[in-house]
Amino acid sequence: MNDLSPQTSPESPKPERQRKPDWIRVKAPVSREYGNTRDLMRGLGLNTVCEEAACPNIGECWTKKHATVMILGDVCTRACAFCNVKTGMPRKVDPLEPAHVAEAAAKLGLEHIVITSVDRDDLPDGGAGQFVKVINELRKNTPNTTIEILTPDFRNKMRPAIEAIVAAGPDVYNHNLETVPRLYPTIRPGARYYASLRLLEEVKAHNPLIFTKSGVMLGLGEQRLEVHQVMDDMRSAQIDFLTMGQYLRPTPKHAEVKEFVTPDAFAAYGAIARAKGFLQVAASPLTRSSYHAGEDFAQMRAAREAQLAKAAAKA
Ligand code: SF4
Repeated sequence: MNDLSPQTSPESPKPERQRKPDWIRVKAPVSREYGNTRDLMRGLGLNTVCEEAACPNIGECWTKKHATVMILGDVCTRACAFCNVKTGMPRKVDPLEPAHVAEAAAKLGLEHIVITSVDRDDLPDGGAGQFVKVINELRKNTPNTTIEILTPDFRNKMRPAIEAIVAAGPDVYNHNLETVPRLYPTIRPGARYYASLRLLEEVKAHNPLIFTKSGVMLGLGEQRLEVHQVMDDMRSAQIDFLTMGQYLRPTPKHAEVKEFVTPDAFAAYGAIARAKGFLQVAASPLTRSSYHAGEDFAQMRAAREAQLAKAAAKA
């Protein structure tokens, strides 16, 4: 295998069978705590990406009361080949949503919350204003909860959207690159790789204290050197935190899994990413943007403090 070959190994199952290997299988969500989290979300009329994306970690996360809220409705204006969220004409923005998100955070007793949204290309601000309102409500009602947002690319309205959201002051700004640039036309056709990178660069330029985060899915046909290049691009944009997880096909209508990347291969990617200077790296088959987000945030903050202390000691 040379560096340009897909990262397969002898024990990797044949991708065309689309059967999940043992390391992907997860337990069915059955705990009482899982049911409580689900009932709370339903009761407040909140959508979650955990359910909409059919996330394999839902049993574990919801048992621990970790849910990623998806604001701005459950209908997306894009149709990415990897994503399970419905596509179409979304409904009106819910003015009560920010208060409901804050209520959910308070009732779940969250130390860290992740908020994401569908793409809203139909809205003049792309939905940035609703992110701002959610952040403000959370700061008002649960001031000790750290806030991570995972936003769309705000196509054609990126600069004002970034300015407004950065001014609201989330702790972590996440925007996923999702895959390598060569695969954008088929996997993420409505988006542009360099526009997404620029978005994250702009966040840092506006406020270097906000942690930036981005992720890629593996198993879509990317090659190893392409993944290394994405890491280099992210470091050039000063992205602090990289997540890497296995792409799973939500339905037969979605892009097929080209490869189930082994846990060892994920560990190797993780080691390379750390060597390239990311403050925090999460790389495993079941890693998702928001998986263990609270614990990872605490580690990332500690890593930055250690870095600053080291720099001060040298000065
Ligand atoms: S990994 Fe993220 S999306 Fe998946 S269940 Fe956990 S919080 Fe939800």
